Amino acid sequence: MVKQQGLRRHLNAALIAVLCVAGISLLARKQAEDPDVYVETRFLMDTLVVISVAHPDREAAKVAVGGAFDELTKIDEMMARKEGTPLWELNEAGGGTAPVEIVEVVEAALEGAGLTVGAFDPTLAGLIDLWKVKEGPHAPPSAKEVEEALAATGWERVRLEKTPNGGSLSLYSVKLDLGGIGKGYGVDLAAASLTEAGFSDFIVNAGGDLSVSGDKKGKPWRVGIQHPRKSDEVFAASPQKGALITSGDYERYFEWEGKRYHHILSPVTGHPARTGCVSVTVWADTALRADMLATAAFVLGPEEGLKLLESQQGVEGMIIDEKLNELVTTAFDEKVIGDEGR
Ligand code: AMP
Ligand code: MG
Repeated sequence: MVKQQGLRRHLNAALIAVLCVAGISLLARKQAEDPDVYVETRFLMDTLVVISVAHPDREAAKVAVGGAFDELTKIDEMMARKEGTPLWELNEAGGGTAPVEIVEVVEAALEGAGLTVGAFDPTLAGLIDLWKVKEGPHAPPSAKEVEEALAATGWERVRLEKTPNGGSLSLYSVKLDLGGIGKGYGVDLAAASLTEAGFSDFIVNAGGDLSVSGDKKGKPWRVGIQHPRKSDEVFAASPQKGALITSGDYERYFEWEGKRYHHILSPVTGHPARTGCVSVTVWADTALRADMLATAAFVLGPEEGLKLLESQQGVEGMIIDEKLNELVTTAFDEKVIGDEGR
């Protein structure tokens, strides 16, 4: 289903209380003033993470939110490609014993790679380091450099054997980068820890990637999905229980001779994927799954990406293409936008 730009109502962030994608939002501030909603913000995983819990016992909520942040911190410290992290060690050694968290993420990533015939590929570390979209200096690499980095990628070169406490990984001349899926897993663990602590009404929002449960004193949680080209505009949404994750070319990019070079790479060309998407938002039961699918659909492009999302049970999505058309799956409005959002 295609909707032209403007058909869906774009709401100005200044006018409505919504949870903005990046930054402490009006809603977070409003909720902070609400004694029955405990809100805490920390900078983690390279982004602002806001956790909101609706519960009359603020002290208990605060303790549980601390536990949820601990889960995110644990995943960040495990899967960042920084010297000394478990993922870094595995990459340096070409494999080895892996903790259960890395095993679960790699397993989901390889499943995703199979499902998308490699559009999602967790072995692009060398290519990502070559482009340096995040850290700079910013200039496109040469064709030869891209070719060499591409030769050191390929999800079929990863072997995973699961054991009761984790597993064992073999990396045949490839290095893992879990940036396209790890944040989702962290968000799931944070949400699970709140549920285990006995809370059922919360949002974990990691820079616009979120997990929603229950409601806020009988009213649906309201969130904002960032418009990919208008930083002060959001799509107001009230997602049903689940995860909502967005991948976009506006999140991390540099410009060079009038062209945008962003952080989602095509495993085929070795360049930033230019298949016509500017953003993909996916709703699914877990953030792990939604995170993988959002990145994958972005790489596949609007048409193939929408087909992928439609083919998955319990998944809805919205793709914004470069003409700013909004393409949505059959029940996206029902499951994600909701009545409150309009
Ligand atoms: P996301 O914001 O979830 O779309 O993830 C983007 C991040 O995923 C990038 O910063 C890279 O770390 C990684 N990445 C880039 N291209 C791909 C790809 N084709 N498949 C899997 N991960 C990717
Ligand atoms: Mg992703």
